[in-house]
Amino acid sequence: MQVGYRFRCYPTPEQQAILLRWIGCQRFIYNAKVGEDRYYRAFQRQTLALAGEHAPIDQEYARFKSRELTPWLYEVPSQVLRNGAVRWKTAYSRFFQKLGGRPTIQRKSGPQSVWLTNELFLFEAVVGGATPDEVSYRLSIGKGKFPVGAIPYTAHRPHKIPASITLTVDAQRWYVSFSVDDALPQPTPQEIAAELASWPEEELRSSAVGIDRGVTVPVFASTGVCAGLSEVQQQRLRKKERARKRWQRRMARRPKGSSGRRKAAHRVARCHQYARSVRLDFAHQTSYRLVESAGVRLLVFEALRVKAMSARPKAKQNETGQWLKNQARAKAGLNSKILASAWGKTLVFAQYKALRRNKLVVTVPPHYSSQECSQCGHTHPENRPTQAEFVCQGCGFRTNADHNASRVIRDRGVALVLSGEFSPVGRKKTMRMRTKVGAGCSEPEPIQASTPGETSVRRQAVSRKAQESVNPEPPATSRRL
Ligand SMILES: [Zn+2]
Repeated sequence: MQVGYRFRCYPTPEQQAILLRWIGCQRFIYNAKVGEDRYYRAFQRQTLALAGEHAPIDQEYARFKSRELTPWLYEVPSQVLRNGAVRWKTAYSRFFQKLGGRPTIQRKSGPQSVWLTNELFLFEAVVGGATPDEVSYRLSIGKGKFPVGAIPYTAHRPHKIPASITLTVDAQRWYVSFSVDDALPQPTPQEIAAELASWPEEELRSSAVGIDRGVTVPVFASTGVCAGLSEVQQQRLRKKERARKRWQRRMARRPKGSSGRRKAAHRVARCHQYARSVRLDFAHQTSYRLVESAGVRLLVFEALRVKAMSARPKAKQNETGQWLKNQARAKAGLNSKILASAWGKTLVFAQYKALRRNKLVVTVPPHYSSQECSQCGHTHPENRPTQAEFVCQGCGFRTNADHNASRVIRDRGVALVLSGEFSPVGRKKTMRMRTKVGAGCSEPEPIQASTPGETSVRRQAVSRKAQESVNPEPPATSRRL
């Protein structure tokens, strides 16, 4: 199976300057491809009757490189530029597979990355780790004309040598990330579900664990394990939050384009990054504890729609058009709590960690899980007199409300697996419907070309980016998907 790795790395300020230039040039090529494609498609819409030329969807970038207009592109290895074009082409292929939107302009702000193929980096084995069979590597970047040098990185676990790496900078921290195939067999969720479905119900119930997610207690398992952020973490998060607001105010006072504003923006980004790290750490540790529990084969989560639950409330109006209060502030407080408890991440991490250990994660509908009795099935709002307490009005069963809910969830998961109707969540499809393309008018469906990868435009169509370049029109043979 493919395993992804992401390690902190520590380039020197000189190396950072070179890598930032590589990042910028790769982004330039990517954005030039986006701009060219937008131009072709905008033109195609206007002159449907005169369609004839195809917008090039290829990996070529030479037309964006010129000694006169873009001399800085000659200061980076050509592989960096080519990889920018390949990244764009890959993004476009994902669009045709309905896995994402069309490639859009990459912004200069936020996390930045450069994708390097193995011409530009080298992992050299270093012998003499803590144990004799432990192999560590020395990563050096660059080649003959464009040396960068060795970049130290902390590999917190052994890894294989990848074919390509991505160097990312996020809030002034550098990371090296890559994925390799570890060649270990891994069962599919269907195989595990089929095996578990043949188990007797009692046995399956005893090796299943239900997980109730809430705002007061982020994770509560039916085995009694509950997890949440520690008091120290919460204190530090509150402190960082105050600091973030302070720096955001300072940033707003500083003039645009000034170095002071840039520094303040870095401080704001660092505060966000801290909160994100705490959430990630919590999700990793919690999911690990859940899947590592002895004797557990089945983990049952609620299918919570985190995104919809944490949406902003709609604006309200009365008959005269006057705006009414819609509790947006209160909802914002709840939303930040929902997101801080890292519900979604915990589930995603548990899914892949469970598969590696031959265990199964399923999600069940969460409706009335807090009001249903786990002993007799009696469902009533009065079953829950307080936030923390559960008292069944039917049979008198009395327990902690979260504990009851987690048991209800566990039983639903057991029933789902025994029914044999379990189907894993498919490949994530993130197809978005564009409302705005190019010059602000919507893209009509019928103009979509019949062959994916080819859109027709008139012959004279030459983009602004293409006009700047040496070779504005690619040869006909180059038009391939
Ligand atoms: Zn009951």
